[in-house]
Amino acid sequence: MEKIIQAVRGMSDCLPEECPLWRKVEDVIKNIIGTYGYSEVRIPIVERTHLFRRAIGEVTDVVEKEMYSFRDLNSENLTLRPEGTAGCVRAAIENSLLYNQEQRLWYIGPMFRYERPQKGRYRQFHQFGVEVFGLNGPNIDAELIMISAHIWRELGIDKHVRLEVNSIGSLEVRKKHRIALVSYFKRHVDMLDEDCKRRLHTNPLRIFDTKNTDVQKILGDAPCLSEYLDEGSKQHLIGLCKFLDAAGIAYTVNERLVRGLNYYNRTVFEWITDTLGSQGTLCGGGRYDNLVEQLGGKSTCAVGFAMGLERLILMLKKLELTQVCPSVDVYIVTIGEDSMVVSMQLAVQLRKELPALRIMNHFSGGSFKKQLKRADKVGATIALILGEEEIKKETVVVKDLINGAQNIYSQSEVAKYLAKLSR
Ligand code: ATP
Ligand code: MG
Repeated sequence: MEKIIQAVRGMSDCLPEECPLWRKVEDVIKNIIGTYGYSEVRIPIVERTHLFRRAIGEVTDVVEKEMYSFRDLNSENLTLRPEGTAGCVRAAIENSLLYNQEQRLWYIGPMFRYERPQKGRYRQFHQFGVEVFGLNGPNIDAELIMISAHIWRELGIDKHVRLEVNSIGSLEVRKKHRIALVSYFKRHVDMLDEDCKRRLHTNPLRIFDTKNTDVQKILGDAPCLSEYLDEGSKQHLIGLCKFLDAAGIAYTVNERLVRGLNYYNRTVFEWITDTLGSQGTLCGGGRYDNLVEQLGGKSTCAVGFAMGLERLILMLKKLELTQVCPSVDVYIVTIGEDSMVVSMQLAVQLRKELPALRIMNHFSGGSFKKQLKRADKVGATIALILGEEEIKKETVVVKDLINGAQNIYSQSEVAKYLAKLSR
């Protein structure tokens, strides 16, 4: 026998059983973002490797060790996108979306990172992302946080998430802080692991992201970025907190919060849950006022966030919030030779008259009992029964699968009755 070919490690199939929950989450997200007036963008999954190197930063985990990069047949260096911001900025610049305009954009789609697969961490995963260009106040930062809070509320998980915000200041602030940090860590170099020692020279701020508990012990006394914050950044954070207070959104200011991608400045935030163990960050975002210029565009301020959909789905399952509507309303059951043709014609007619109704024909024969069992299994609430008698009289039996009641209607009138039910 031929060997079975398996999916790539860390990349999973979303099977029919799971898709309705995904659809529900995506629908909630799309409906909510629509009510804020944001516009969807669809951008390529493959970009030039160079784009991510320049946007995310050479010395980040993502660029150093997590990218799916390859050469195409024309020897171009390409990468499967590990995140959506870089491509979004590239597209905005390339298509002149930023020329004296503001933009409020969103996207949903797969991202790829070569990470160690585990619960909540995959090599192909999906993000909902929002990117806003041309607005520099803390009000828009607050609105992005409000949008994410709105999504938690609608999904029923708002009691299980918490918000952390921080300001990481300007580039100059981070330079000053970096000098102080390097000198502090050099004094404690014995405590650092190899990874952190390397980060000490490349990107010392990333040491704060370490998962090594020994290194974490010396983080408490390390110079804190907040001591170096410029007045503008301080005021921006105060402004953000004011808007969040007014919106009734609880948060903590975590002065140790830094983000894994280099492009952020000023506001950074994360939504965290304790229901998922160590993969607890549901959503992260912040300002990136320098990125557009860094990628060759005209200086344009920007802010955005991305949330991981797999983690959201895991959370809904954990909290048993997986109720979804069944995908079939009406199941058409047939007995006898001639009824199949009529059953398919009836389905066509009903779909025309009642476009919202989800109708499934039974195709695999078998006893009446077997067919009704199948109707139950697909979640239908009504069975339409076409036997020899019904074909002769051009009628149909309507069986309510919830209370068992049965009524007979003419085939041409049954849509009217079903319309009443679906209302
Ligand atoms: P983490 O610290 O968990 O690695 P991150 O800082 O790398 O997260 P971001 O780049 O900010 O994550 O991406 C935003 C969100 O996308 C995360 O909060 C998470 O929900 C989700 N995410 C990131 N990487 C993965 C992954 N490998 N698998 C599943 N979801 C992911
Ligand atoms: Mg990561």
